[in-house]
Amino acid sequence: MLGSPSPWQTAQTQLADAVAQLGLDDGMHDLLRTPRRSLTVSVPLLRDDGHLTVFTGYRVQHNLARGPAKGGIRYHPSTDLDEVKALAMLMTWKCAVIGIPYGGAKGGIALEPSMLSRHELERVTRRYAAELVPLIGPEKDIPAPDVGTDEQTMAWIMDTYSIHTGHIATGVVTGKPISIGGSAGRAGATSRGVMLSAFAALREHGVDHRGATVAVQGFGKVGALAAQYLHDAGCRVVAVSDVKGGVYNPQGLDPLGLVREVRDGSGTVVGYPGTDIITNPELLELDVDVLVPAALEGVITAENAPRVRARFIVEGANGPVTTEADQILEDRGVVVVPDILANGGGVAVSYFEWVQDMQAYFWTEDEVNERLAALMARAYREVSFLATERKVSLRTAAQMIGVGRVAEAHRTRGLYP
Ligand code: NAD
Repeated sequence: MLGSPSPWQTAQTQLADAVAQLGLDDGMHDLLRTPRRSLTVSVPLLRDDGHLTVFTGYRVQHNLARGPAKGGIRYHPSTDLDEVKALAMLMTWKCAVIGIPYGGAKGGIALEPSMLSRHELERVTRRYAAELVPLIGPEKDIPAPDVGTDEQTMAWIMDTYSIHTGHIATGVVTGKPISIGGSAGRAGATSRGVMLSAFAALREHGVDHRGATVAVQGFGKVGALAAQYLHDAGCRVVAVSDVKGGVYNPQGLDPLGLVREVRDGSGTVVGYPGTDIITNPELLELDVDVLVPAALEGVITAENAPRVRARFIVEGANGPVTTEADQILEDRGVVVVPDILANGGGVAVSYFEWVQDMQAYFWTEDEVNERLAALMARAYREVSFLATERKVSLRTAAQMIGVGRVAEAHRTRGLYP
């Protein structure tokens, strides 16, 4: 959006805020804001019709102080180095605040996956993965799915990496199919975490989640299952949307029916029987208890924040609220459960998947969900305790915990040479 800060500027502002709160010095601030490694690669693809298209791919490892780098791979036309840097930085703080031993990374290719055939997607993924081989690995950097990629993408990356290195390396990616070392419960982990953190916030403010009204922007891997879990737990999901637009029914929607419609029918939620059509901007301004932005970053800005009527915003997406919007929402008493806490369930179960791969010993879905619930509950408790103690927002508190833990790791390790 014109005039809105870029995701990279937003990430820098949020870091500066945490650095000031923690009283870190300028040198540490520089260390924390500078990505450790950034790779830009050209990704040539021979199209099915015989002509050549060259895409640009990225992988940024933002910080490796607490462990190997971890973060998703995004296929989207607007993906660029600045966006990938911002998302990599968010991953660093997210892993630290959730309390798992990883640094942060992100990757992506600037392309629209729906414009490629399955064979083209496989070739472009394998070529990109081959470029990443020197950088990634189970003990170096572990990619996962993000916008526009899925478990099949991860399977191709795992296979390409394994062929190049000459041995099977299931732990090089997470979010894989279960047949090749994926974890039970991974597919729904981010959404389950969104639900758990939404409920923790509602509980903290004395609101019963049963009957609470919910709107979800984005009906992909995170949004669709978040809508389903919230519905199953007794919330009334009144609106959902995807890139084509949204649907609304004040009596409540049937998320499972919508999933079937998107998967097996029209490919979009728009036009689902028994619903009214709304736009994405209208969805963000609905009078609901809980708003879950689960599509892209920067959708709640200084322009529309004054009109947001939800009492709680639970950030399924990364960076959906700009810094200016954050301040406006805080002043208006809207509780924002920040991305690095709210959607940390995905990376938490990615960590569980990696642990299982490294041990070649797999857990049941109940065990995964139980451990996820324990991690999310602890993370929420720590963030909300600090927010209350320091009289800051949940976002600032989460950033302070994440940034503080990474700074501590740097101090403890010391500087080489
Ligand atoms: P996805 O590609 O599966 O789904 C994205 C959804 O957003 C789709 O329904 C798409 O139609 C919709 N969308 C795209 N552009 C839009 C627009 N301009 N307006 C409205 N809707 C739009 O992606 P995902 O994995 O569900 O990721 C969604 C968000 O969650 C991203 O910000 C991602 O970084 C974040 N996230 C994902 C995971 C994960 O495990 N997949 C984990 C943490 C955070």
